[in-house]
Amino acid sequence: MAKIMRILAITNQKGGVGKTTTCVNLAASLAAAGSQVLLIDLDPQGNATTGSGIDKASLKYTVYHVLIGEKTIRDVIQTSEKSMFDIVPANRDLAGAEVELVNEIGRETRLKYAISALKNTYDYVLLDCPPALNLVTVNALTAANAVMIPMQCEYYALEGLTDLVNTIKKVRTHLNSNLEIEGLLRTMFDNRNMLAQQVSAQLESHFGDKVYRTVIPRNIRLAEAPSYGLPVLEYDRASKGAQAYVELANEIISKSKKRR
Ligand code: ATP
Ligand code: MG
Repeated sequence: MAKIMRILAITNQKGGVGKTTTCVNLAASLAAAGSQVLLIDLDPQGNATTGSGIDKASLKYTVYHVLIGEKTIRDVIQTSEKSMFDIVPANRDLAGAEVELVNEIGRETRLKYAISALKNTYDYVLLDCPPALNLVTVNALTAANAVMIPMQCEYYALEGLTDLVNTIKKVRTHLNSNLEIEGLLRTMFDNRNMLAQQVSAQLESHFGDKVYRTVIPRNIRLAEAPSYGLPVLEYDRASKGAQAYVELANEIISKSKKRR
């Protein structure tokens, strides 16, 4: 069967909700399940790059050079030996892209165009978005088939969702009419926290099967793994965090199969 590449934008303009942790660990879990995976770091913080075991300071070319049209995506793909998936790295250079692209033609479609050169080399392309609804995030939403929204089950979580959903609607109208919401992912979940339980129940009643059944628990191993440049699957395979991301990968793979 010919490969159909599934491009997922992992996004939430709220900072620190688990976007990067989800990208790196989902990439590793999908790869462990036999998928070909490319992770594209779209954040000048370069956390997905570091977390995948790549030294972001030593990079000559990054996703920035792809967006400004200086390099093709194949020129900058790195194979992370430790992680079993490929990565397009980022570092602080990317912070300049926003300003440099502002008057360029096709500024919102740069990433989509770059990814199209990959044909169907990968099963999954994961886009790690920055915590902002900026031009880079719009590029991700324009290139993606679907959006995954990691969120913490806390009081303000739903408020931020409105802005994101409005941006998704605008992108659908002007740039990418096929963009779907693939799912909302509950992250850093603490079962003993009553408020978290309430917000979680609200999410389920509001968004139904758009909420992934898999819940990512708060787990110290997930926070420790990036300092070793490893996905948690390599760092502590038996941990609750690793198991949760394996379960999420399975849920996503079975959703992909149903779609066909
Ligand atoms: P940013 O918006 O800055 O890009 P982010 O949404 O990508 O942040 P992460 O960097 O993935 O969020 O996570 C924020 C912090 O929380 C990190 O220190 C990470 O290690 C930690 N963390 C993420 N998920 C979990 C979890 N399930 N359990 C414990 N710690 C977690
Ligand atoms: Mg991040």
